[in-house]
Amino acid sequence: MTTIFIISAPSGSGKSTLVSRVMDQEPNLKFSISYTTRKPRGNEVEGVNYHYISREEFELRLAGNEFLEHADVFGNYYGTHMSELEKARLGGYDLVLDIDVQGARQLKDRIPDAVSIFILPPSRAELEKRLRARGEDSEEVIQRRLREAAEEIRNYGRYDYVLVNDQVGESSSNLAGIVRGERVRRVRMEERIAPILETFE
Ligand code: ADP
Ligand code: 5GP
Repeated sequence: MTTIFIISAPSGSGKSTLVSRVMDQEPNLKFSISYTTRKPRGNEVEGVNYHYISREEFELRLAGNEFLEHADVFGNYYGTHMSELEKARLGGYDLVLDIDVQGARQLKDRIPDAVSIFILPPSRAELEKRLRARGEDSEEVIQRRLREAAEEIRNYGRYDYVLVNDQVGESSSNLAGIVRGERVRRVRMEERIAPILETFE
């Protein structure tokens, strides 16, 4: 049984940092590679960070119902392809989806037992500091991200878990704790339990 972990956060909260730590720590967990119409940034690689496609191709795939969820984020399309979930089910691993609040909502409606996690920065000032420290964005982009963050964080109430990313070590161990805890929920253990019970018959 594949468990989907949805992670959303305003840009600069530390989502990538926490996700990469937890992926290193937890076995059998893979990152879902989305399709996007935005251009690759910096050292991003096709098929590793995203699958980069044109708007035309995205719209064709959308019309063909190929996406589990999709959204228009800052003027670009982003979507999770059905095949990511199919591959995970066949391969017997869990999936981490880094998607925005619109996509998270669609996915929860479609797959209610997906686990959703919202990452909050400790404060606006700290978020601003992290965006600057990352050194990726112009002043204009930083100001835009801060405005967007104010909107995005209003959606925290739709998520199952909220992590305040203050100390990175504590946040990543809490994230790993969520993954481990969710993995041993009874509904997800049934396949393992059945053969154990058989040994008692
Ligand atoms: P996101 O993926 O949410 O946009 P990043 O993981 O790129 O964010 O983190 C933004 C910046 O903040 C990076 O420079 C990162 O090293 C730093 N950072 C992440 N988590 C913390 C933390 N808990 N405390 C201080 N700095 C952090
Ligand atoms: P970025 O362009 O900075 O990589 O991502 C911008 C936003 O798009 C982030 O909030 C990220 O979570 C979101 N995003 C990335 N992939 C997907 C996806 O497949 N679906 C949705 N709905 N959002 C995505």
